[in-house]
This record gives sequence, structure tokens and C-alpha cells, in this order.
Amino acid sequence: MAYKLPKALVTTVVGSYPKMPEALDAIRRRKKGEITEEELHELVKPAIRKVVADYLEAGVDIISDGEQSREDMVAYFAERLGGYEPGDWVRVFDNVYFRKPIAVSKLSYKGPMAVMDWEYTVSISMGHPVKAIITGPYTMVDWSFDLAYGDRREFILDMARVLRRELEEFVKRGARYVQVDEPAFSTRPYPEEAELLKEALTILFKGLDAKRIVHICFGRIELVLEHLLDMPVDQFDFEFKNSGFKLLPYLKEYSYDKELGYGVIDVHSLRVESVDEIKKDIERLLKLDIIPPEKIYIDPDCGLKRLPREIAKKKLANMVEAARQVRRELGYED
Ligand SMILES: [Zn+2]
Repeated sequence: MAYKLPKALVTTVVGSYPKMPEALDAIRRRKKGEITEEELHELVKPAIRKVVADYLEAGVDIISDGEQSREDMVAYFAERLGGYEPGDWVRVFDNVYFRKPIAVSKLSYKGPMAVMDWEYTVSISMGHPVKAIITGPYTMVDWSFDLAYGDRREFILDMARVLRRELEEFVKRGARYVQVDEPAFSTRPYPEEAELLKEALTILFKGLDAKRIVHICFGRIELVLEHLLDMPVDQFDFEFKNSGFKLLPYLKEYSYDKELGYGVIDVHSLRVESVDEIKKDIERLLKLDIIPPEKIYIDPDCGLKRLPREIAKKKLANMVEAARQVRRELGYED
């Protein structure tokens, strides 16, 4: 049974959700070598069921698997690609650490990495579309050590070739929305880096029959916005709430004309935004009159993984209600 998406202001999530205890336990056991990869994906199913239940109760239109199997967005894929070895712990910020993997030889694709959890999510999504989400080549390389390529551009482009195989697997199984997360890109908002990202995305997305989404967060996107506009991407998803919507005037200045994932929920704050507050934030974008509501997707700034589950769920419920009310006020039927 197909779920009918609203005609405008479709609600969605960026991807990650608070980890359920079942998922944490399964990841831990997988790392110790106590269970196989197949068992890992079997054991995270109850966790995914809880994530999907929260999304559906909150009323989110396009959902995700909550990235329950992924302890870390880079290491998860690095551990499943040929050419990598596990590396050392590196501090990202505050007390957030991750294990920076090491590429020791040319990369190779060994088979589906994130497809199993996505397929399971589809089977319990009550017809809601499920985004297929992977970490992008730019970020994979930025957060890896390179002992194999000795050339950053080559490493990124080869990563794009390998990750493309995963996207092909998704599309083959019916994925209509594919999203690539590139948070590392915002740390180097320069035109030459945008050119490199564009090359990588061209390899990744060329001829792929699905909506192509790129999520970038927390950085000075305005410095490269005009370069993003001619990338082979259908939708960019940006954080707006946490940065005080400072990107808005630039969308107008550069005549932004793609679909927009509009982040209206602060994922670093425990405060639950009220429905009225979110409505006002959605109206800020509508008032600019640059992107038609049909091309606007309402979502949180980034993944929700660092929030307590109850708060994440409340934030989503208010977000959905706000989108619903604005949609009604604009005259769209639900
Ligand atoms: Zn993000």
C-alpha cells in the first residue's frame, strides 16, 4: 500500500536517531567478533522497529532506518569496504571521539553495507518512503588516514566509484530517495573544494534513477552556495535552526533553484521547539518567495542521535504538526 505524500512541505529526517539498547548491544557484540554481519542486522531489527514506530507516531512522511547499526558514520562503511584497516581513536570535538580508519590499499566494494537495514525498514514502513542514506566520498576521505593513494583527489574519486555501487544496490531494490551525507565539506567552503565535491558527486549520481539528496551541515555554506547550484543534485539539505537562519538571504542572492531540505529543529538542544516557533521558521523561508512549497522538505538540522529518544520524538511531532498547519494555511489539502 502506498502512502500518499503531501503535495508541499513534505516532512522527513536527516537520518540518525537515538540508539536503542538492542542496537548498542548488537554493535558491541559484532565488534567483539561474537556475531556475524548477518546476525548484527538481525539483532538490530527490534531497534529499527522502535525507530519506525516513533517516526510514524510523530507523523513523519519520509523516514529512515535511524542508522541503528552504525556506531560511527565513517568507520561503519570503512569496516565494510576492501582496502581499509581500523585506526586509532581521534577526538572530533568536546568529548566526542571516533576511530579514524586507515586506507592501506586501493578501495574495493565487497557487497551491500547499509542495504539490509533499509530493506527491513521498507518492510515495516506502512508504505512511507524510506531514504537510503550513506556517508559521502568527501567525508569518508576527510575522516580517514591515507596510506594508499597519496593523492586526496584520487582517493575521493575512487571512493565515489566504490560508494556508487552501494547506491546502485539501493536503487535496484526500489529506493526512490538516495541521500549522501557530507558534513566534512562545510569545513572547507572554498570554490576548489566545491569543484572536487562536484566531480565526486558526478561519479556517484550519474544516471542514477532516484532523487539525489546531499546533506551538509554546520559551516559557512554561503561561501560556496553558488558552486553548489550547478552540481548534479536534486535536493540540498542544510541546517538552518542552529545557525539562526543566516543562510536564508543567500538563497535569494544566488537564486537557489533546487529542492531544499530545510532544517528547523536544533539537534544540539534539549529544548523542544514549539509548533508556533517552527511555523514561524517555516514562514521565514516562504516569505522570501524563492522556492515553491512543493520543493521544500521540512526536517531537523541534522541527525537526532545525540538527543534522548523522548525529546527527539517530541521535536519531530511538533515539526510535523507545524508543517501540517502551514500547509493548511497555504490552502493545500492534506
Ligand atoms: Zn548533519
